[in-house]
Parts: sequence; C-alpha cells; structure tokens
Amino acid sequence: MLYFDHNATTPPAPAVLAAMLPVFSDVWANPSSQHAPGQAAKRTLGAARTTVARALGCKPAEVIFTSGATESNHLAVRGLRDAAPVGRRRVVFGSVEHAGHLKLARALSDAGTPVSYLPVHADGTLDLRAAGELIGPDVALVSLMAANNETGVCMPVAEVAALAHAAGAPLHVDATQLIGKLPFDFARFGADAVSLSAHKFHGPKGVGALLLRQGVPWAPQTRGSQERARRGGTENLPGIVGLAAALDALGSASAMVAEAERLAALRDALERGLAQALPALHVWSQHAPRLPGTSYLRIGDLQAEVVLNRLERLGIAASSGAACSSGGSEPSHVLSAMGVPRDDALCAVRLSLGRTTTAQDVDFVVAMLPPLLMACSPFSPPPEP
Ligand code: PMP
Repeated sequence: MLYFDHNATTPPAPAVLAAMLPVFSDVWANPSSQHAPGQAAKRTLGAARTTVARALGCKPAEVIFTSGATESNHLAVRGLRDAAPVGRRRVVFGSVEHAGHLKLARALSDAGTPVSYLPVHADGTLDLRAAGELIGPDVALVSLMAANNETGVCMPVAEVAALAHAAGAPLHVDATQLIGKLPFDFARFGADAVSLSAHKFHGPKGVGALLLRQGVPWAPQTRGSQERARRGGTENLPGIVGLAAALDALGSASAMVAEAERLAALRDALERGLAQALPALHVWSQHAPRLPGTSYLRIGDLQAEVVLNRLERLGIAASSGAACSSGGSEPSHVLSAMGVPRDDALCAVRLSLGRTTTAQDVDFVVAMLPPLLMACSPFSPPPEP
C-alpha cells in the first residue's frame, strides 16, 4: 500500500514505539501516587513535558496534555470564552476550520453565544480585510487554524494575532496540521493558545496538547488536580512519552526545513506529472502559501469516488474532500467557503505526502493513474459492474 493520506494520520515512528513500550510495561503507576513507583511515573511525565516544551519553544508550565486536538480546541475555546470579561461574548472562528471545530462553533451559537466566521478568498487564503472588520471590542476570543487540513493553505497567524490583540482579545490557533510539517516556536508564534495532535507527526493517536501562554485568563473545563488543575484526569503517560519522542524525532529546525523542501518538490513533481497526462487536472490553492506535502485536486468532472476507486486498485490510499455519511456525500465545507460549485467540490481528492513518501512513490502515481483514468473517458463514472 502506498500511503498518500498523511494529513489524516501518520505511521508511528520506530523511535516512538521504542519510547512507549517500556512505559506500558514498567512505568504504569499513577503519577499522582506518593509511593516510589508513582514518583517514578511523575518524573517520566516531567521529563516528557520538558522535551515537549523544548521542541515547541514554550515553558513546561505552558503545556497541558490532552487526548488530542479536538479536546484541545474545545478546552481553548470554552476556557478562554468563560474567562473573558463581561461585555465580551462574541467568538470569532475561521470559516474553514476542522469539521469538529465548526460543530463546536454551532453548539455555542445554538446555546446563545454570538459567533462570527472569518471568510476566505477563492484561493483559500484568509480575507484579512474582513477579519479586521469582524474582530472588535465585543470579542471574547478568536479561534483560527494555522493550516487547512484539506487545501493545506497556511493562515496569516501573526496578522490575526495583531488584530485580536489590538481588540483586547486572545487568539487560539489550531496548529494540528502545521506542527511537525514546518518549524514551530510558540514564543514567536503570536497565539495565546495552540492545539496539536501527536498522530499527525508520527506520534500515537489519542494524545495531544494545548499550549496556553502563562498569564492568559482561562477557565478550566475538566476539573481535577492534574496538569496544574487545568485538565483533570490520570495522565496518558505512554501516549505523552510517545508525543515527546515524536517531537524529538522531527529533528532540528533546519532538518525540518530540508524535509519540507523535499516534500514540496515531490508534491510539485506529482502535480506537474499529472497535469501533463491529464489536461483536465485542477489543483486548488496551488499558488497560495500552503503546506509542503498537500495536493487538493480534481480531474475534470470525475467524481472523487471514481478516482479514489482507481487509486485503491493501484494500492494507493488517499482521501476525498467530501464528508460521506450513510450513503450520501456532502461537498467539503472548505471548498464551499471558497465559492467552489457543489459539482466540482464532489470531485475533490486530497493526496497528502509525508516523511515516508519517496520519489518512486510519486513516479508510480504519475505513471499508473492517468492511463486508468483515461480508460473511463470521457471522464464520467463507469457503469456499475
Ligand atoms: N484540527 C485539524 C486541523 C485536523 O486536521 C484534525 C485532524 N484531522 C483535528 C483538528 C482533530 O484532531 P484529532 O482527531 O487528533 O483530535
């Protein structure tokens, strides 16, 4: 199987498994216990926290371990909203946030919280002028993603931080797709709270963190004594050790830049090669600032499921931009926000490259996919078998 779905999740790195296994077998005591095994677990937790803080450019006390980005996003938004001064009630979300995060936005709105959405341009980049108009003195917080999981488009975090801070509001950033793909430094990032998930950068699933700048008013949501009383519940120590090991394995900032350049070159070769063989190819956000390994495309009017079926036959795992549920498909909300017509959006296929992707993998897709698709010319779905 050739894996072209690194934005969905990534395979755990060998160093991550090696770091986690002894924690399962040997360091299983509760870090809150006073006895010797508990204290050993507490030291392991502290060491992992220090590693995470060093890798992400924050203080150890600014790290809150969670079950992943979904929980971090909820904690950030509800925690910052609940701590906002009286008179600041409105929450501003990006319009192309992760689907789970937009569900939170809808839930807040249904419960009476005023909610606004930051629009994007046709190429998926943020409309900063509109952001300037929407972020005002009644805002409790702004919540924006750093990079989009479908298009890969990177958002202007520093500019939005300046707008939020000028309005007296904190900024939360969902950096789930950015961290691990490009160098990241919390101290210079501009956001007050940042979400991340370990499995997006070769760590384990079900563990992540919320980085919360010291001194930012925030109200805990899950009560308990752990994580300095900011997130209750016995810590997922093997997962946290795996998260730390995954960050460690990413290497230095310059090593990450080199990997990003390698991936961007592979992604460009993939898009160039497919475009040569398939003139009907359209790549969304191709000229916008985007993540190095993300390619979001449609091939004429070929439905996503047809392309994915051909990819599957070639042993290639990729994904569509549509949310499929019980037989029906809804076009991607990201493409809808970019003004893409429904019929085009239902043709969206995402190929996301990562550390395990090689030039041979890309050559294979470029050589094998077009002939299979030409066989279903004139680009209409084949009859049912
Ligand atoms: N935010 C973004 C931008 C994501 O891509 C994802 C995962 N697809 C999430 C949040 C949620 O991450 P998790 O499922 O690990 O909680």
